[in-house]
Amino acid sequence: MNLYRGCTHNCVYCDGRSEGYYVDGEFGEDVTVKVNAIEILNRELNPKRKRTPFKRSYMMPGGGVGDSYQPLEKKYQLTRKALQLICEYNFPVHMLTKSALIQRDIDILKRINEKNRAIVSFSFSSVDDDISAIFEPGVPSPTERLKTLAVFKHEGIACGMFLLPVIPFITDTPELIEEAVRKASEVGIDFIIFGGMTLKEGKQKDYFFDVLKKHYPERITEYQMIYAGDKWGQHQANITIL
Ligand code: SF4
Repeated sequence: MNLYRGCTHNCVYCDGRSEGYYVDGEFGEDVTVKVNAIEILNRELNPKRKRTPFKRSYMMPGGGVGDSYQPLEKKYQLTRKALQLICEYNFPVHMLTKSALIQRDIDILKRINEKNRAIVSFSFSSVDDDISAIFEPGVPSPTERLKTLAVFKHEGIACGMFLLPVIPFITDTPELIEEAVRKASEVGIDFIIFGGMTLKEGKQKDYFFDVLKKHYPERITEYQMIYAGDKWGQHQANITIL
C-alpha cells in the first residue's frame, strides 16, 4: 500500500528513484499524497460493499516508493487512519518502515495485535550508524531503529529486521552481517530477511554512483563490473575481482 509516492527519507539506493516507477517530481524532495486513499480503503475493506470480500490476510501499509512514516505523515496521518480501518475490519497487519514515528501508533498496533496479530519490521542496510548516515541520510540511525523495535517487542508485538538492501562491498562483509544478527538477537527480533541491492540504469544508478564516487571512490570499478546494465538492475554474480 503506497499511501505516499516519493519519499523525503531519500535513501541513496532507493529504487523509487528509478524512472520505471513513475514517481512524479524530484525524488527525495517531492511527494504525492493520496488524499482520498482512506475513503477508497474503507470502500475496499468493507465486506458489505464487496461482492467477493477480501481474503483475510496481512495488510502491509509500508510502501515501496515511499515510507508510510516519512515526515509528511505527521500532517496527513494517512497511515494512522489506514491502521484504524484495518483494526475495525479485523485484518492482521505487517508494518515496514525506517522511521521511529511508528511509535505514535503503538496504541492501534497493540489493539490489532490483540485481535488479529501485528508485526513490526524495520529495514536496515547495516547496523553501522556511520555508513547509514551516508546512504540513509533522512532516517533515524540503526541504533535508534533497534531501540524502537525493542519498544514494540516489550509490548508483545512480533518484530522483524529486513536487512535489505545489503550494499555490495560496503555492508555485506561477514563482520557487519554478524553484527546485525547479533544486535537483532539482543533486541529479541523474531526474524531477519536478507536481500541484495538492485541499481536500475538511469536516475537510480546515476544518483548512487555520485555518492559512491564521493565516499567510496575505490569501489567504482567493482560497481561498474557487477552493475553492468541488467534490465532489472540486478548485479551480475560469479565475477572474480582481482
Ligand atoms: S525509506 Fe524506503 S521508500 Fe523511503 S527513500 Fe528510503 S528506501 Fe526509499
